[in-house]
Amino acid sequence: MNASCPSGRPPLPRSAAGPADALKSLTRILLDSDPGAARSQSRTHDIGLRLLHASPCVCEPNFTSLHPDDLSFLFDAYDTCFLDGLCGKLLGPEGVTFRLSTRMTRAGGKTTRLQSPDGVVRFEIAVATSILFDGFAADDPEVTVCGLPCRHRLDALQRLFEHELVHLAEWLCWDESHCGRTRFQDIASRLFLHRAHTHQLITRSERAAARGISVGTRVTFRYQGKRLQGRVNRVTKRATVLVDDPFGERWSDGRRYARYYVPLEELRPLAD
Ligand SMILES: [Zn+2]
Repeated sequence: MNASCPSGRPPLPRSAAGPADALKSLTRILLDSDPGAARSQSRTHDIGLRLLHASPCVCEPNFTSLHPDDLSFLFDAYDTCFLDGLCGKLLGPEGVTFRLSTRMTRAGGKTTRLQSPDGVVRFEIAVATSILFDGFAADDPEVTVCGLPCRHRLDALQRLFEHELVHLAEWLCWDESHCGRTRFQDIASRLFLHRAHTHQLITRSERAAARGISVGTRVTFRYQGKRLQGRVNRVTKRATVLVDDPFGERWSDGRRYARYYVPLEELRPLAD
């Protein structure tokens, strides 16, 4: 989630910074509030249960769909429980929007400060659904987010969201936010018990690697009833496999290959 750290942005205009008292109170909470492990865990557990009850999408801990409204729910719940509702008060209803991203493949979340030409500032919190939904299949290695082991997608979503909320709150109070820095890590560890600022959700390429498939691996797969052999050239949602073909395009190694796009689960690695 290093990628979620915006930097070098201009300060919030006064209108967006909101009432000075609320800002002062939020700053004090971020620097001093220490609910302790038991209270922090019981609050986050309670927020998870409430989301399960309230959301039409998040109906089970390993939910299979998610809606931006679920992120909005988490924002209100976390802001109320941990930050006295001050982020919502400072930002107003238009001040923060939520987005699900299928294109973020490394970072689990991202908080962005957006400024319109007329100077109005708002924030966007995005969560990478691709990474969430790729993880937690049977046989996947243990997932940790922010240094905490996650039993299921709901755990991972909450840890990701907590991380992004700290970014947002830091932005409001100090006009900058960096999760590699001590202040961020101190806030995240006091409020949410985070032990790291990196996520270890399994990504597609990691999952493929765990199955013995990475760039360069010799593989076999079925195509139109025939079994083909080739070499993996790229791993994204599917693998690009190059198969020797006298009529194929010529590659930099001087040989001709046909290119096949194969779902990862259809590939079998070959012993070299
Ligand atoms: Zn971050």
